[in-house]
Amino acid sequence: MRTYAMTGGATGIGAELRQQLQAAGHKVISVDIKKGDIIADLSTTEGREVAIDGVQRLAPEGLDGFIPCAGLPPVAKPLSLIAQVNYFAVVATVEGLRGLLEKKKGSVLFVSSNSAPMVAADDSFVQICLAGDESAACAEIDGRDGHTAYAGSKRAVTIWMRRHAAEYAAAGVRMNAVAPGITMTPLTDLVFADAELGQVMKEFGDSVPVGRTAQPVDIANVMRFMLSDEASYLCGSVFFVDGGSDAMMRADDF
Ligand code: NAD
Repeated sequence: MRTYAMTGGATGIGAELRQQLQAAGHKVISVDIKKGDIIADLSTTEGREVAIDGVQRLAPEGLDGFIPCAGLPPVAKPLSLIAQVNYFAVVATVEGLRGLLEKKKGSVLFVSSNSAPMVAADDSFVQICLAGDESAACAEIDGRDGHTAYAGSKRAVTIWMRRHAAEYAAAGVRMNAVAPGITMTPLTDLVFADAELGQVMKEFGDSVPVGRTAQPVDIANVMRFMLSDEASYLCGSVFFVDGGSDAMMRADDF
């Protein structure tokens, strides 16, 4: 039996992964704002402390894996919440749980998105996130749009993972990211219902090369593999699990 901690295990992709890991006999500590072993609002510093302290209390022996899966969609308001949950909470919890991960030579699986490459790495929002200035990132993004907030937060968190992958690996902790395409979850329902983004997302969904959008199980199956011993040489990788959309949009760019 292994011990995993995750955020965002209440619904969607996170709930599917939690159930798969539990069905395989593993212990999963789930942190969520709605329902879980630890209830915490990860948009706040206090909530992140509750999450880290709670995981340390429930897994003193260490962690085989941590999956910061909680995320907000591009239609969340204010947009600064997206920066707080999708970027700053992820970095804070990964860093806060590093000691527990080192104890068991565990791995961290970030949840990026196939939208991440749609915002440039040198975008000011991405750069301010990476500089670690939460209040400046919130101020910057509140004046911009939901797509930049969401895709930019995923771009930033993926760059953070890759910049730190070698250093964490030297301490025995592998870090990787999964980059899902459109997956049918409560998050996607909110985007599809949005007056501005709904139609664009439906058209994007219709264009997926394999001919369908994903179900949470399509993503969780790959995530479970990325966390397993079979993937023990995987480090700093970004797996696009998106039915071919990224290949269609950026064939030469990998
Ligand atoms: P979801 O809404 O079903 O799950 C998100 C989870 O995060 C929920 O359990 C929610 O309660 C939790 N959460 C939200 N705000 C929180 C907060 N402040 N504190 C603590 N928990 C909070 O959505 P999902 O689609 O399963 O998304 C899971 C991850 O996958 C997210 O990071 C999302 O960005 C990413 N993703 C989703 C898609 C997609 O199309 N659904 C595509 C690419 C990436």
